[in-house]
Amino acid sequence: MSEPDEAAISTALDRIRAIVGAEHVLDQPAELSEYRDPFQPTVWDDYTPAAVVRPESVEQLQEIVRVAGELGVPLWTHSQGRNNGYGGAGTRTKGAITISLRRMNRILEIDSELCYALVEPGVSWIQLYEAIRDGGHPLMLSVPDIGWGSVVGNSLEYGITYLPHGQDFMAPCGMEVVLANGELLRTGMGAQPGNRSWNLYRRSFGPSLDQLFMQSNFGIVTKMGIWLQPQPETILFPRIVAQRERDLVELIDTLRVLMLDGTISGVPTLLSTLGVATTLTKRSDWYDGDGPIPDAVIDRIGAELGVGRWIFRTALWGDDALVDHRFDKLRRAFGAIPGVSVAGDKCSPDEAPSLASAADRVVAGVPSLDLAQMAGWYGGEHGGHMSFSPVVPLQGAPMYELNTVLRRLVEQAGLDYMNIVMATGARSAVNVVGNSFDFDDEQATRNVYESIRTLVTEAGRLGYGEYRAHLSFMDLAADQYSWGDHAYRRFVERIKDAVDPAGILSPGKQGIWPAANRPAA
Ligand SMILES: Cc1cc2nc3c(=O)[nH]c(=O)nc-3n(C[C@H](O)[C@H](O)[C@H](O)COP(=O)(O)OP(=O)(O)OC[C@H]3O[C@@H](n4cnc5c(N)ncnc54)[C@H](O)[C@@H]3O)c2cc1C
Repeated sequence: MSEPDEAAISTALDRIRAIVGAEHVLDQPAELSEYRDPFQPTVWDDYTPAAVVRPESVEQLQEIVRVAGELGVPLWTHSQGRNNGYGGAGTRTKGAITISLRRMNRILEIDSELCYALVEPGVSWIQLYEAIRDGGHPLMLSVPDIGWGSVVGNSLEYGITYLPHGQDFMAPCGMEVVLANGELLRTGMGAQPGNRSWNLYRRSFGPSLDQLFMQSNFGIVTKMGIWLQPQPETILFPRIVAQRERDLVELIDTLRVLMLDGTISGVPTLLSTLGVATTLTKRSDWYDGDGPIPDAVIDRIGAELGVGRWIFRTALWGDDALVDHRFDKLRRAFGAIPGVSVAGDKCSPDEAPSLASAADRVVAGVPSLDLAQMAGWYGGEHGGHMSFSPVVPLQGAPMYELNTVLRRLVEQAGLDYMNIVMATGARSAVNVVGNSFDFDDEQATRNVYESIRTLVTEAGRLGYGEYRAHLSFMDLAADQYSWGDHAYRRFVERIKDAVDPAGILSPGKQGIWPAANRPAA
């Protein structure tokens, strides 16, 4: 689409300065460098905003949205803007105005009895974790691998967290939303003034709207409820290691049975050898050759790190006796697979923050930045990371077949194949194919982009669609959802036209464009 009108942007910024204060309107190149896709070569600026504006209240945000609507200026919103791997703080439309909600970072409630919190969008996982800990609340928070992102932004992206409320994306409940006309809406029970169950009951009297504001561009979320769980007596980390690539089939089928009967909860992840190696080491520690890492080297990495070809990362949480019972069941089930070893370590929630392994800490609900190093497989500190993440049934044989196809395509592009299966529910998983690159190397970066384009298309042909996509692939990923001659797209476009007729909110998010910018227009 064409870039936004510069005169309109300039007028809008003058008016926004009067709303938020000039110091909260950033429009100098040095200031904006923090708000681009951090994993793109510095000479690329496809997703750089014209300016970043930083409101501190809902009222300021409402005024900004009204100004943008009047002038027809496109906005893009982030909460913390740490969406690294998917475009970071970059905007889908180059030259849009980014609204950064980092200053709206109050934790409004933590309720130990009903086990929930109510937060503003700028609140990070680390901030909420620390507030729970410092307030002496006996609660746990389901967190993602990297804790500097926001509870709201990550959840709105269908972000994956690993404790029980991460399963089926159960944690968010009840939102407050600024609409494109500047009005304020509360979803669910929050629609009733003074309602006491806003962040406790997931439905509404009528259609439930929370989902409508997730991975969409229909509103800007300014408050969100998030469910927490009571601290358990015991956390147990099962160490399940398999030695053969083909074991994926039985591992996944066994996992499904144990998730369906409730033995395993949360979002267990099954990491391939290279999937683990990226979190602990660099490629050059193992191999310096061009092209994909040979199988013999993968076997050596698996043996030296003690992770085989596959290792699970998950935990069992609960009363000690219950955890023992579940672990015994899990050990018998996985132990029946030839060559698979099963061990386990326990800790109490008090011990969790001092665990040596960052991966264990995450499944114990302790966020940090330690796992960010997985982007550095090729480029070290200049390492970029981009995933291709189709949703797959939680069934071993089709998952193995799909990974065989994906591996062939990735290796044809000369890249290392590393995948992680995240069982987001008992029936389906997100099969993350991670691609790392040195973003100082433009050609290598371009090669990864091309490879992902191929993966989206080829997997689409096989009946697999992505759960989330980088700014560069949102349109392509959305194109795969074409059933009924794009009936889904036409429906969400009709909603877009109705709730945001000027098309100012995050144009192009998830491939949803305002009428004026649609390819056919
Ligand atoms: C090495 C590595 C590991 C990662 N591990 C994980 C992981 O374990 N789990 C996971 O989920 N992700 C993971 N990611 C991806 C990503 O970095 C995180 O999800 C990150 O938390 C997202 O940033 P954020 O929370 O600040 O969201 P933001 O950047 O603030 O928001 C993300 C998007 O949501 C929308 N949005 C944000 N706020 C609002 C709002 N208030 N109203 C309306 N729309 C809004 C916007 O479209 C925005 O672009 C990983 C990335 C890397 C590189």
